[in-house]
Amino acid sequence: MSARASWDICTGASRDTQNNEGLGSKLREAGKTAEIAAKTYRAAATESTLHTLKSSDFQISGISGQKVSSIVYESGMRGGAGRAIWEAVMDGRDVDLCPMCRHTEVSELDHVLPKKAFPALCVAPDNLVGICDYCNSKKSDITSEDASKVLLHPHFESASKERWLAAEVIPGSIGALRYFVRSPSCWEDVFTDRVNNQFEFLDLATRYGSRSQNTLGGMRKVFTEQLKKNGPTGLRAFLKSLASSHHANDSNGWEAVAYDAWAENDDFCHGSFNGKTIPKTGANQLHMENYRITWLKDGCRHESAVCYSAAAAGDYAPLKRAEEGVSDVRIILDK
Ligand SMILES: [Zn+2]
Repeated sequence: MSARASWDICTGASRDTQNNEGLGSKLREAGKTAEIAAKTYRAAATESTLHTLKSSDFQISGISGQKVSSIVYESGMRGGAGRAIWEAVMDGRDVDLCPMCRHTEVSELDHVLPKKAFPALCVAPDNLVGICDYCNSKKSDITSEDASKVLLHPHFESASKERWLAAEVIPGSIGALRYFVRSPSCWEDVFTDRVNNQFEFLDLATRYGSRSQNTLGGMRKVFTEQLKKNGPTGLRAFLKSLASSHHANDSNGWEAVAYDAWAENDDFCHGSFNGKTIPKTGANQLHMENYRITWLKDGCRHESAVCYSAAAAGDYAPLKRAEEGVSDVRIILDK
């Protein structure tokens, strides 16, 4: 579907009335503007220079961005003749997972460049992406003119060619993972910054960390049986085979990375996931996983999804403190 065809369909029902000063005609006649805008957009997206586009070049003459997006996108596409295009964007993905986070199911349609600021692109298929509600609400209408802060465009850019997602068992924990970006040497600095920024912005360390905790909960019995039957070496081989199977499906999937991280951790393969190697009695409170980390970022207080032992919290807090934009990191006792 071309941007022009999409515009024509979504404005087809716009009418001139006594009070709207020819609004319907103006919108329908703006098809050429939308076509040129989409062409400029596509060229910039291909060159990874979307951050250089100026919203003033993407206006529909004489009509506010708010009005254009309300009539053309909301009424014309979402609730009108263009509904099929909207649905094609939502259904046309390869996987059900959000392409921004690879964590949560797709549920909302996002405008890569916001529709009110860039109204000429409000129904351009290249600018529409199905993502999850979490990423959509985080992203909101934020754009950046800083190349290193631009989120990857799911249609035009991908970090999936190389393996970059990594995790390690948090020392002293019973298998809790800290996820991080391990950028391949072939990445350019700006791309590395962008992936790191996106990882941080979408809070992927916390989101993946809590998913992996759930997975561990469900797999604990199987791991215990493996360890009993085949010893630490057998359990490690088992974890490696699970990692390999998941890597074949998605080389940067949090699950594959979790199994790898567990396999590579000696304590884990010796049963730390059962808490066996870690005293859990009141005699040594320091080893109980009853601490959380909280921190301030963007004016909001955040809290770690998982609990840590005092030792692990002590290790983790300085890492958190070192993150950009983070302040007032505290270790608190979980209620
Ligand atoms: Zn998402």
